[in-house]
Amino acid sequence: MKLDSTKKNFKPSHLSNVFRYCPKCGSKDFSFNGEKVFSCLTCGLEYYMNPAPAVAVILQYTDGHIVLAHRKHEPRKGMLDLPGGFVDMNERVEDTVKREIWEELAVKIDKMEFIGSFPNEYVFNGISYFTCDMAFVCEIANDTVLNAADDITDAVVIRPEDIDYNQICFPSIVNILKLYCVKFLK
Ligand SMILES: [Zn+2]
Repeated sequence: MKLDSTKKNFKPSHLSNVFRYCPKCGSKDFSFNGEKVFSCLTCGLEYYMNPAPAVAVILQYTDGHIVLAHRKHEPRKGMLDLPGGFVDMNERVEDTVKREIWEELAVKIDKMEFIGSFPNEYVFNGISYFTCDMAFVCEIANDTVLNAADDITDAVVIRPEDIDYNQICFPSIVNILKLYCVKFLK
């Protein structure tokens, strides 16, 4: 059976264009329903594609500057991102925020405010990962020292009104920054 991905404009990296055989029994009778589930006619496997939760954190200095970071890895290596990353298995989203900010900037976070979320398609090694990027704002003191590490090469401290959106890595991050500006900048 031919995979049913022709009706929608999926990228070549969409799993319906990548998966060719049932991962359980190896059958070629493995089809995508055009939305989110693969089914195997041979063994009955039903495999659901679900978005991956991720966090994007706006670290806001008391004086109004925020922190952006240059991406160390593909996709969009070298472009500006918000600190953050994927939620681990069995992890609370709130703990992802704390873990990522500690890993990437060596800053300890205690309080955070959820401001909204945006979906994103993140292509890595030829495979699309659909994410749900959840945005949080965390206030940090003006004397907070940033030590860039892990998935970023360096941190950029910037006033939100000075951001060049052409330098921002993903549309979801652009949307988060614009939402932040609407909500937090008077
Ligand atoms: Zn099967």
